[in-house]
Amino acid sequence: MSTLEIKDLHVSIETEQGNKEILKGVSLVIKTGETHAIMGPNGSGKSTLASTIAGHPRYTVTSGSITLDGADVLEMSVDERARAGMFLAMQYPVEVPGVSMTNFLRTAKTAIDGVAPKLRTWTKEVKTAMEALKIDAEFASRNVNEGFSGGEKKRVEILQLELFKPKFAILDETDSGLDVDALKVVSEGVNRAQEQNEMGTLLITHYTRILRYIKPDFVHVFVDGKIAEQGGAELADRLEEEGYDRFLNVPA
Ligand code: ADP
Ligand code: MG
Ligand code: MG
Repeated sequence: MSTLEIKDLHVSIETEQGNKEILKGVSLVIKTGETHAIMGPNGSGKSTLASTIAGHPRYTVTSGSITLDGADVLEMSVDERARAGMFLAMQYPVEVPGVSMTNFLRTAKTAIDGVAPKLRTWTKEVKTAMEALKIDAEFASRNVNEGFSGGEKKRVEILQLELFKPKFAILDETDSGLDVDALKVVSEGVNRAQEQNEMGTLLITHYTRILRYIKPDFVHVFVDGKIAEQGGAELADRLEEEGYDRFLNVPA
């Protein structure tokens, strides 16, 4: 079992008006096999948390820590984070001209594992995963993300998740812009990765819709850069009914 631990994390960004603190003390422990949903209103800092875990240079950690089985994640390069077993959708290039999906996937898999996958089993694995995600076979020869629709990019993101077999996946708004059919296919892919690899998942979402397909063990409500409330799956049901109003300072 592995543990990803975020401890009293404070994160700032530089703006034209100076430094602005976005995350104001976030603590969270995720173990492999667990699914944590982070939910919250727009602008509450959810993507900032995902980007910070991913190592995006724009975000400065001013205090606190992120560790993976005790190892300092904040000291790791983006590549090292992937090799340590973290899947962060954003770390992958949006478009890679001249590089086919097939080559990209195999190169990335080799970099993550430190050894090239055996060609025959690999080819089969890619094919099976693509079929399960209803990704057309012609995508294999297309350039990475070039001309992919939003939904296609999401499917390819989950394809990587299934093939790379990370210990932890950070999925930021994986549900946004998907129709119900695509949402189902993508959710099933996440569930397969969880079952087959004991993956720990941090599922960041504004809407409760995806939680009908991916059942969270824990729900954390994010408000103004902090976790305002924590609970189990029932908390998501409450949010679906009540929205975020009671967490916001709206006058009665
Ligand atoms: P969420 O994902 O919950 O909608 P974000 O993490 O994207 O929230 O944003 C949190 C806050 O930080 C917002 O007030 C947003 O305007 C601000 N913010 C985030 N990234 C930047 C940035 N690159 N430049 C300026 N402000 C930013
Ligand atoms: Mg916790
Ligand atoms: Mg966001």
